[in-house]
Amino acid sequence: LQAVLAAPGVKGKKVSNLGKKSKEGVIELIQDIINKKQEVKDPFYVLDLGVLVGLMDKWARGLPNVRPFYAVKCNPEPAILGALAALGAGFDCASRAEIEAVLALGIPAGQIVYANPCKAEAQIKYAAGVGANLTTFDSREEIEKLRRWHPRCALLLRLKAPEDSGARCPLGPKYGALPEEVIPLLQAAHTARLVVKGVSFHVGSGAMHARAYRGAIAAAKTVFDTAARLNMPKMHVLNIGGGFTAGPQFDEAATAIKAALQAYFPHEPGLTLMAEPGRFFAETTFTLATNIIGKRVRGDLREYWINDGIYGSMNCILYDHATISAMPLACASNPGNPTCRGLRTYGSTVFGPTCDALDTVLTGHQLPELQVNDWLVFPNMGAYTASAGSNFNGFCTSAIPTHLACSPSNPS
Ligand code: PLP
Repeated sequence: LQAVLAAPGVKGKKVSNLGKKSKEGVIELIQDIINKKQEVKDPFYVLDLGVLVGLMDKWARGLPNVRPFYAVKCNPEPAILGALAALGAGFDCASRAEIEAVLALGIPAGQIVYANPCKAEAQIKYAAGVGANLTTFDSREEIEKLRRWHPRCALLLRLKAPEDSGARCPLGPKYGALPEEVIPLLQAAHTARLVVKGVSFHVGSGAMHARAYRGAIAAAKTVFDTAARLNMPKMHVLNIGGGFTAGPQFDEAATAIKAALQAYFPHEPGLTLMAEPGRFFAETTFTLATNIIGKRVRGDLREYWINDGIYGSMNCILYDHATISAMPLACASNPGNPTCRGLRTYGSTVFGPTCDALDTVLTGHQLPELQVNDWLVFPNMGAYTASAGSNFNGFCTSAIPTHLACSPSNPS
């Protein structure tokens, strides 16, 4: 824990109080931040390092032989990157900016997989320059670009994942080689003198059915065998991508993956196993605090405006098909508070701050009577939230506050 707290990107950030029970610690920290900066009502995130450490432990117990390369796209907040590096993770980067974010924390390029099968030439040149030497591909055109601009790069052939994962965000329609494309692509890479070290796939973000991993691992084994039959360098890297969530579904996925590895790769000495989880680590570790900036009463209906919304953190409702929930800070920090004990709740609408009616965060949500300047807290807001937000209408995306000094009673 000390290593995590001292990790680059974490030091000086407001992160949750690790000594406390997780939820209580987060709420207390939010209250503490608000008390210290009373005139500043900007929305902000709190990262719970205790939850993150617990998740890494869960990963290590479930998939001890699979090294996680955190998918930076999911949430590129430096505090989570630094903490995960201290906990032993590598990083999946999709762009120059993501590679830069990782390198800026002092993490070596060797800890990165550049896991974007289609990269602009300028970004490939950048990767070559900094020594990001492992990437994915699924087309001849990508091979040609890599031959020209990054001939020392090792490759992973991205396979189209089976479509039976029930994923919230399927990736198969866009990425992955089809079975009939495997041989021509392996041959093209060989001709270009590029080494294909192995295979990658992604069963889709927020996958529901663990069985999808089995089909994908079986397909990967076929590609390993094909490369051997073609007398190509022996493949030894299997990247099982993402698709993981932190709940019980992770245990099901881990069981399915271990069984499939046992079935298809039982005697593969020197096999390197990697994965690219984003949601698994980010979703439950971040809590968002927003301020109520406006209110309207229409009969029994209560309408509130908050200072983050669909064009900011809550874009996850549209893009990530997320369901989110909110609770008043006053109730979270003190359930005995009269506001919360007052039995009456109202069907409430919560709007974001922009002038678009689409910017509606919650409808029909039961909340007690709240006032302008009260705070609403949104748990589980770490995955594909701030990372995909915009500054539409001049509202900045929320971040972890870094400008507040830590109090001695709250050393994290
Ligand atoms: N790796 C790649 C190549 C991805 O495209 C994604 C998500 O889109 C991830 C990893 C992260 O996966 P997840 O959201 O399932 O954690």
